Amino acid sequence: MNKAEALKILDLKDGASDDEVKKKFRKLAFSKHPDRNKEEGAEDEYKKLSSAYEYLKNPPPEPKRAGFRRSTQRQQGGIWDAFFGGAKQIKVPPHIQTSCKISFKDSVLGCNKKIRIKRIIKCDDCSGQGQVTVGDSCSGCRGLGTVTETLQHRGGYVTVQRMCTDCDGRGGDKKDCSKCSGSAGIKTDSDFDVEIKGGILSGQKIRLPGAGNYYSAMGMAQSTDIFLIVRVDRDPDMRIVGNQVISTLEVTLYEALKGTTKKVRTVMGERSLEIRSGARHQDKVSLTGHGVRGIGDHSFTLNVQYPEDTIKLIEALEAKPEIETKVEVEPEPKIVEIEAEEEPEIIIETETVVEAIVEEGIEIEADIEIPKEKED
Ligand SMILES: [Zn+2]
Ligand SMILES: [Zn+2]
Repeated sequence: MNKAEALKILDLKDGASDDEVKKKFRKLAFSKHPDRNKEEGAEDEYKKLSSAYEYLKNPPPEPKRAGFRRSTQRQQGGIWDAFFGGAKQIKVPPHIQTSCKISFKDSVLGCNKKIRIKRIIKCDDCSGQGQVTVGDSCSGCRGLGTVTETLQHRGGYVTVQRMCTDCDGRGGDKKDCSKCSGSAGIKTDSDFDVEIKGGILSGQKIRLPGAGNYYSAMGMAQSTDIFLIVRVDRDPDMRIVGNQVISTLEVTLYEALKGTTKKVRTVMGERSLEIRSGARHQDKVSLTGHGVRGIGDHSFTLNVQYPEDTIKLIEALEAKPEIETKVEVEPEPKIVEIEAEEEPEIIIETETVVEAIVEEGIEIEADIEIPKEKED
């Protein structure tokens, strides 16, 4: 960086006084401060402004002293002095971390939990400033310590709040507030009703932004956050996976083969679960609307229990193989065969007949057929 660049960044003319440089830097840097402006690029712009200000405030040494470097501490001090007018450094209190315990059922369906937190809140006596004005307040800022200005920015206008330079942000002659001893906040117990959404897992944190400890930064009220760690009681039979509650259900081999109805425990109470016949080991059977927030399912994975003495079972199956393959069919209608009555066999002994004819001299009609002799 050189002098021309630094002047350009701060939009100053050559020969600007130290006071002009200081005022200009405060004005421009306030809106870009990383604590206040989270926009992309704001931090880089702030760094640029700081470098330019630092350059103009402490021009680089003469070439013969090129090796000399100011300490970082000194540089930082310079910037902060300009920014806060030498005001005391802000002490940011820590975030609050606490924990609570909920039942497994509450973790599935969601619940509201009351928690009591010891925290620092804004002191009313000094409006959270830590100091009260003695006598007249500053006319430049009406005792506020800050002034609001509208600036041109990228063709538009932005409103920024900056520290009052008349009183260096003090707002007038001040003394420490007697109630909070100048700390701006007082310790107290606060009750919170925290909504815990269904599906939370043990150890997960819920953030309550701005509900933690109060502090004042550049005359503005700020608060840290509360982080609530939720501990969930274990359930011996159920656990949450995504939107589902998962369980294992033991069924005997007989129940799996034949089908059955089992009583099961859910977060909504006892329910009946139908197991179809021919169910297999590791099959999943679900109860809809019994999972997370009453929307997900409760899924049961079947654990088919084989009999202790499997050899006996094999023997039993081998002894009656038809059990495996027998297919029941409707009995076919029985066809009853009616036996025909036997016709009496007529045996005529031909010789006798012939003899008769011969003896009695009777004529035999020609069409009488003489049965043949049986062959056997
Ligand atoms: Zn003032
Ligand atoms: Zn106070």
